[in-house]
Amino acid sequence: LTFRRLRLSGFKSFVEPTHLDILPGLTGIVGPNGCGKSNIVEAVRWAMGETSAKSLRGGEMEDVIFSGTATRPSRNHAEVSLLLEAPPGAAPAALHAAANDGGDGRAGPIEIEVQRRIERGHGSIFRVNGREWRARDVQLLFADSATGARSTALVSQGKLGAIVNANPQDRRHLLEEAAGITGLHARRHEAELKLRAAEANLARADDVLGTLE
Ligand code: ATP
Repeated sequence: LTFRRLRLSGFKSFVEPTHLDILPGLTGIVGPNGCGKSNIVEAVRWAMGETSAKSLRGGEMEDVIFSGTATRPSRNHAEVSLLLEAPPGAAPAALHAAANDGGDGRAGPIEIEVQRRIERGHGSIFRVNGREWRARDVQLLFADSATGARSTALVSQGKLGAIVNANPQDRRHLLEEAAGITGLHARRHEAELKLRAAEANLARADDVLGTLE
């Protein structure tokens, strides 16, 4: 996945609708302390499905909503949208149907817009290309592309030492993530849980059958 654009509105210090184009090559964000550089990275992480308010430096998820200043009232909602581009074949099948092949029969890159919106008292919802998605599926979309809210591709302040000193298990996790198989692990775990539930149901059905015979 290639990141193309980030839009923020009401997210942390970004009270006004703001957008950042992410151009090819290296992008640097510079500014004085406290101007909101880390908030930008947190917005990306939040849109990718971060579920821990703590890792976004908040006590609860609603803390990502602009909380007001001496001169501006607080907001009731926050929205972040990430515009991505996927090479043909790399996007989930559900998104291929809507892809435009440019009229020449050859599939072009697919644009994927992931939006997350939170309202006070109502929690947050995700939309992908305008349709509502489960948080889990948004997380898997990024995990399959070897990135995500918990990805080691996002190195926050103080995390560098932790990566350098990682134990062999954590290091293996890094390699698995680079290979893009983290999503498969999550799916296997879910499948195992379903299997166990089905086995328990079968045993229960056997018991019931036994009492009827
Ligand atoms: P540094 O270089 O010191 O790490 P930074 O540029 O990364 O700074 P951030 O930490 O991203 O800055 O931004 C912090 C600013 O965001 C603070 O001024 C803080 O008051 C503001 N802020 C954070 N959450 C909210 C919120 N929910 N509503 C309003 N402002 C917020």
